[in-house]
Amino acid sequence: MGRQSLEAITDFVDGLPKAPSFDTGDRDSLVAELLRPPPEEPGDFGVLLDRFRRAAEKSVETAGPSYLAYIPGGGLITSALAELLANALNRYTGISGLAPGPVALEHGVMRWLCGEFGLPAGAVGVATTGGSIATLSAMVAARHDRLGEDIAGGTIYTTPHTHLCLAKAARIAGFPAAAVRVVPTTSDLRMDVGAAEKMVAADRASGLRPFVLVGTAGTTNTGTVDPLPGLGALAQREGLWFHVDAAYGGFFRLTDRGRERLTGIDVADSVVLDPHKGMFLPYGTGILLVRDQVTLRTAFTGEGDYLQDLDAGEQLPDYNTLGPELTRDFRGLRLWLPLHLHGVAAFRDALDEKLDLAAEAYDALAADPLIECPWPPDLSVVTFRRRDGTDDDQRALLDRINATRRVFLSSTRIDGRYLLRLCVLGHRTHADRVREAVEIVRAAARG
Ligand SMILES: *Cc1c(COP(=O)(O)O)cnc(C)c1O
Repeated sequence: MGRQSLEAITDFVDGLPKAPSFDTGDRDSLVAELLRPPPEEPGDFGVLLDRFRRAAEKSVETAGPSYLAYIPGGGLITSALAELLANALNRYTGISGLAPGPVALEHGVMRWLCGEFGLPAGAVGVATTGGSIATLSAMVAARHDRLGEDIAGGTIYTTPHTHLCLAKAARIAGFPAAAVRVVPTTSDLRMDVGAAEKMVAADRASGLRPFVLVGTAGTTNTGTVDPLPGLGALAQREGLWFHVDAAYGGFFRLTDRGRERLTGIDVADSVVLDPHKGMFLPYGTGILLVRDQVTLRTAFTGEGDYLQDLDAGEQLPDYNTLGPELTRDFRGLRLWLPLHLHGVAAFRDALDEKLDLAAEAYDALAADPLIECPWPPDLSVVTFRRRDGTDDDQRALLDRINATRRVFLSSTRIDGRYLLRLCVLGHRTHADRVREAVEIVRAAARG
């Protein structure tokens, strides 16, 4: 079964350059087959593997070079191998005393990341299932630290470009929708620090309790980085928890340009990262870094008599005290193996390449008289639209581009205007495909 699986994986990866960018239509009969309940009698591995492969084909091709929509990740095979090993050995990493070795592997990666982001010695990192869950933990920690048990009147400061997971986290953490305040941006789509300051002051004067300021290091819409130094200083003056959503943009910190663009992230109280975006890992890994680990532990520690045999490790974190989960999958190996095997420089180089590719795509599209590119990219998202034309025309343009099945792009709306977006982040996406994408866009704008 292992050999058959590895063969299927090899075939899949070999086929990616030629794979269509999506195959989601005409699916009714396949879906009906896939929905069948499990049988009483055993099945055949080869038959089931084949069924899985046909199921996987009925998707947008998110692993290959063609995926330029939303935020691509790709999925490193070495991380998938780590996952197989980790799951096969099935270690219990919710409590460090049960698996100090595996927890040390994971904690080593987290400590390294805290250092890369300039966080102090008391910081801690915890791997989650994704950015949204990491954000939820951050909001709960901030709430507990700044408001205590009575959370009435607590307010959170965001922008129109803050990811939807912030409002969702606030709601799950017990806040009404009105608690999420939306600060306007300047014309370059960054949070207006002066406007934020005024809004905080006015809210405080009217009896509200401002407690979190959210900066984004790479918005999903346009990859824009908020003015982190100004926001950090404002948060400090006002006693706000400074949360930085770096789910998309955070790992660019590993490059020289990204390090500069993310200046100021080191004063954050919490930072969210998504290795399943910027480290090219398979879906299912987010990270929360918290400046003062005591704040996280205070928010999440629980007590159970059935855990009395376990002494709390001094040196290693008990992950169950740093988030809502007790039992969890061993998330460390899928980070540790690729980092130690490929070396950090391979990640820096790959991320640098994505910055170059986005800059090149921007230059080529902006030079086309039919195309308008409103903002040069801070990171690796390029937004554009046809210079003339209604929203329907823009949508038709996107359809024509995607109909080639060589690339898959997505769209968004900014200030009510429909924009197409091209995000370069997959580790299998290189210059050849990005140049092809640009040619496809230019031809489609004429079609
Ligand atoms: C993707 C993303 C999130 C949400 O992360 P998930 O891993 O999808 O839950 C949050 N913020 C930003 C900026 C993102 O790009």
